[in-house]
Amino acid sequence: MSNELTIIGSGPAGLTAALYAARGNLNPTVIEGFPPGGQLTLTTEVENFPGFPEGIMGPELMIKFREQAERFGAKIITGEVKKVDFNSKDFKLLLDDESIIKAKSVIISTGASAKMLGLKEESELIGKGVSTCATCDGFFFRDQTVIVVGGGDSAMEEALFLTKFAKKVYIVHRREEFRASQIMLGRAKDNPKIEFILNSEIIEIHDPKQNKVNKVMLKNNLTDSIKLMETDAVFIAIGHIPNTSLFKDYLNLNENGYIITTEGTKTNIPGIFACGDVQDWEYRQAITAAGSGCMAAIDTERYLADL
Ligand code: NAP
Repeated sequence: MSNELTIIGSGPAGLTAALYAARGNLNPTVIEGFPPGGQLTLTTEVENFPGFPEGIMGPELMIKFREQAERFGAKIITGEVKKVDFNSKDFKLLLDDESIIKAKSVIISTGASAKMLGLKEESELIGKGVSTCATCDGFFFRDQTVIVVGGGDSAMEEALFLTKFAKKVYIVHRREEFRASQIMLGRAKDNPKIEFILNSEIIEIHDPKQNKVNKVMLKNNLTDSIKLMETDAVFIAIGHIPNTSLFKDYLNLNENGYIITTEGTKTNIPGIFACGDVQDWEYRQAITAAGSGCMAAIDTERYLADL
């Protein structure tokens, strides 16, 4: 037997879709994915989610999202979808425990993942000084020196968070102009522990042989000069890539891999909807993701009613 609706992903988009779908009697099943709760569980304070004037910690906000969806009957399964088959109207999802879920409709809210620099040492040293999550790993670098790579809000946010632990935080950015908002950039510039290294890129991270980060090789993009710099950690905060590899054989994606949606949250396959960061490369906010999750649930309700 098929579920009415299966939702893949449990960030603000997926759990808002689950809340609305549960209240619409669609008995949604949510496949939680990793990390459960999505990117907000890897962040610290969320200051821009309406309704929380004092701010709220990301993981706490996602627990509230989850509780609210469950209160109305959403079923949440811990696990990951490994494969999908969207060929027949009974959509099939293969989970990591080899179980198969069949659904009449699917909402995709798999979000996006942190981009990496593409250096060989990065994968060797991840979790050993290379990180994409200051909230998760900042604590390990108390009174140490760390580098944050990037020039957007994520880099500023990570750097500011790291000043709580590290004695010195360098922001390495490849040019002089920033994508970061003025308010975040201003906070970083005003923090005495933060120093900017501009027009520069990391081209090597040392030292995989010692199983830890102790130096990086920096290249100045204006002069092509190269220098070694000591550091205890490298936090990479250079943006995200959408988690769409499971769907590329079925769904229309744009040149950056984001799912293309039309008329709200519809994909090119009737009955498959997408919401949140997996289809939004422009706004990428928790509140916009939640809003599009609500839209996806309403679009699904109408689709199922018409079946
Ligand atoms: P972003 O705005 O796309 O910035 C990515 C940064 O990384 C850019 O400065 C980019 O440099 C740099 N970069 C990209 N690839 C690189 C590479 N291979 N090597 C070196 N540098 C590289 O991404 P984001 O900072 O993750 O922010 C994404 C969205 O989330 C934004 O809309 C942002 O406002 C929002 N956000 C908001 C908050 C907040 O309000 N608290 C916090 C975090 C994020 P170039 O500029 O040279 O391309």
